Amino acid sequence: MLNNQSILITGAASGIGSAAARLFAGYGAQVTLVDRSAGVLDVAQAVGGAGVIADVTDAAAMRDAVEAALARFGRLDGAFNNAGTEQAGAAMIAVGDYPLGDFDRVIAINLRGMLVSMQAELAVMVPAGRGAIVNTSSVMGWLASAGMAAYVASKHGAVGLTKAAALDYAARGIRVNAILPGAVRTPMLTERAFPANPGYEAVAGTMHPIGRLAEPHEIAEAAAWLLSDRASFVTGATLAVDGGFSAM
Ligand code: NAD
Repeated sequence: MLNNQSILITGAASGIGSAAARLFAGYGAQVTLVDRSAGVLDVAQAVGGAGVIADVTDAAAMRDAVEAALARFGRLDGAFNNAGTEQAGAAMIAVGDYPLGDFDRVIAINLRGMLVSMQAELAVMVPAGRGAIVNTSSVMGWLASAGMAAYVASKHGAVGLTKAAALDYAARGIRVNAILPGAVRTPMLTERAFPANPGYEAVAGTMHPIGRLAEPHEIAEAAAWLLSDRASFVTGATLAVDGGFSAM
């Protein structure tokens, strides 16, 4: 499905991003894997891709990451802007008390980092006159959950940013879409949210009409399709991959 497509993936050291690296490579893509964690180099080696340690909030580092894709594979056909973070600490925090510093940090990574990533990618895609971008939002990009102001705002922002970019580049051969996962079995939940919130793991699956959590590769499948030429008339779309969560 992605044969010989050069695709950059951010947040590729873990969870959905590392599953996407394996899946896209299995579909024939040449992957450039970006993460602030050095673990991205191991994932890159495992799938035969290029690995780049970079922070999505750093514009120069993201330009270098795109350059690494060009140096290794000669072009950039697609990008999966998937790096993201959750709020610090275990407790849910109401808006009136939400720490501004943590709000800034989450927005900087989940929203501004998406813009920074797209700017680096578009600098190559616009002259080429073609490209596909998929951004990872969340069901929290359509809905809200109490105590998660920064995350909810960042993911709503990601939906708006995706639509704006889709309109800016629709006539220039570049498609931009967002995926909205429900709860996914990744370290964001299994290593952080579940241990920090007793009882959450037991109910997380049942919140989805399908009755379970998503596995990371199920989210990556949707991104693969949106990045592929099979989605050639799809742009500005927000695709829920949430087991029916947002249909309720
Ligand atoms: P994860 O924590 O397993 O992986 C996130 C990766 O992003 C990590 O490797 C981390 O190092 C990287 N990262 C974080 N900040 C970065 C930065 N500033 N620069 C570069 N890399 C950075 O989590 P995941 O569940 O795989 O999350 C991937 C995306 O999916 C995120 O955008 C997340 O918000 C979104 N999402 C996750 C869920 C879920 O339930 N797990 C649900 C909806 C959306």
